[in-house]
Amino acid sequence: MSVLAEVQRDYGTLKLLIEGEWADSNTSRIEPVMNPAKDEAIARVPYAVKEEVDRAVEAAQNAFDRWKNLPVPTRIQYIYRFKSVIEDNVEDLARITTQNHGKIIDESRGEMRRLVENVETACAIAYTMAKGEHMDQIAAGIDTTLIREPLGVFAIIGPFNFPSMAPFWFIPYALALGCTVVVKPSEVCPLPLQWTLKVVEKVGIPPGVINLVHGNREVSEALISHPDIKGVAFVGSTAVGREVYKFAGAHGKRAIVQAGAKNFVVVMPDADLDMCIRALMPSFFGNTGQRCLSGANLVAVGEVYEELKTKFVQASSKFRLGYGLDERVEMGPVVTRKSRERIFDYIEKGTREGAKLILDGRNAKVEDYPNGYFIGATIFDNVTTDMKIANEEIFGPVASIVKAEKLDEAVEMINRSRYGNATCIFTSSGRAAREFRTRVKAGNIGINLGIPAPMAFFPFGGWKDSFFGVLHGQMDCVDFFTDKKIIMSRW
Ligand code: NAD
Repeated sequence: MSVLAEVQRDYGTLKLLIEGEWADSNTSRIEPVMNPAKDEAIARVPYAVKEEVDRAVEAAQNAFDRWKNLPVPTRIQYIYRFKSVIEDNVEDLARITTQNHGKIIDESRGEMRRLVENVETACAIAYTMAKGEHMDQIAAGIDTTLIREPLGVFAIIGPFNFPSMAPFWFIPYALALGCTVVVKPSEVCPLPLQWTLKVVEKVGIPPGVINLVHGNREVSEALISHPDIKGVAFVGSTAVGREVYKFAGAHGKRAIVQAGAKNFVVVMPDADLDMCIRALMPSFFGNTGQRCLSGANLVAVGEVYEELKTKFVQASSKFRLGYGLDERVEMGPVVTRKSRERIFDYIEKGTREGAKLILDGRNAKVEDYPNGYFIGATIFDNVTTDMKIANEEIFGPVASIVKAEKLDEAVEMINRSRYGNATCIFTSSGRAAREFRTRVKAGNIGINLGIPAPMAFFPFGGWKDSFFGVLHGQMDCVDFFTDKKIIMSRW
């Protein structure tokens, strides 16, 4: 049964979650939270003051000893129950996500499904990977045991584009392993995580195990630099991620930083083009192009170019834009007016750089929502990899078609890119696919799939400027949240 009230028109001023209580902030800085389809404020977000950040960390630190000492099966039962309360509330959570982020309702449901997958995986991991290792008779009469111990309190800082799921690449794992957390969602899109946590607390999790503060850079920094914070798991842009990585390092904190992307999609002349086009639509334009796993550069290899271009443009012109709560809508707005301006600037830049604009989404009109931040699918042709539009993350529904003579040239383009989050190839040749996957420098590779998103029981890869650190999110973070203890004994 749903524990949420109906989706509201106004969610009021958001609160902070400290030691199990939803509290008003004492801040003087409160900013509007927008519905991007309507250009209307639907809530207000307070930027927490330092004293509130300190109290949240203190609450997490106080909860840590009790939480880590709970029998593992008891601890896991709480997290296991996240699954059922979230599943009971998927519709409401998806609607809130669409209201604040703009993505279409089915994409919001998909985000919640992937979030639950992380809850399931975290429960399994606590019983398997975190159980430790043992070897008898390492020397005469001496045995050795490795155990993992939870480190303490972690900061989790999220991006706007998967406002609930991205923090859940870490939260359930940290908790399952015995750590406690303070989470800071994106100030642009803070509603979904706040409501996800309201749902999650219905399982009766002890106060202080999960805390939430709102805000921007200052709040992140107050959090990371707090002496009781052991590390930060961050998801966001490369520019900010690099700063966070340096800042965490300067304060002696562990960091996982998953950052920006510019993903190449390679189409070979022997590809099944119909299958390929079907896969390219969600890949390039899903979430209105606001994904670190969006396609950005479409590389046409050899003679596939003309037919690929024609079919890609035809399919891309058909998206029905609108307010994502309407089930018929196929593409929502981008998240803020500022994002739309930034994307428009890139479209201008691309034209000035000499690329040919063959599908222009700037004039997209949505009659019922004339003030929404809409942009239709946009395609540039004749793009070369020295252009800014081919190198920089646009984070919107903008595709660039780039020609390559041979697979070799496509691979070189990908490997020259500063980013390495993901890439994919469409081909009917096993040999080409194998060459591609072995040579490209990227963390997530698709073969006859659009840019792939790894399941939770694999790490979330990411190379080059798309990632800073050693351990990745999802199941990889077992070692991040724990330290190892090696016990050698003789009796
Ligand atoms: P962003 O970098 O602007 O913000 C991310 C978070 O950092 C927000 O919570 C923000 O408040 C906080 N922040 C901003 N400045 C900060 C600073 N100087 N120090 C500390 N914290 C700061 O990112 P965004 O626009 O919210 O999200 C989109 C970006 O995230 C894109 O670049 C996208 O590629 C990336 N992303 C990456 C992955 C991945 O797994 N690699 C997944 C999703 C999104």
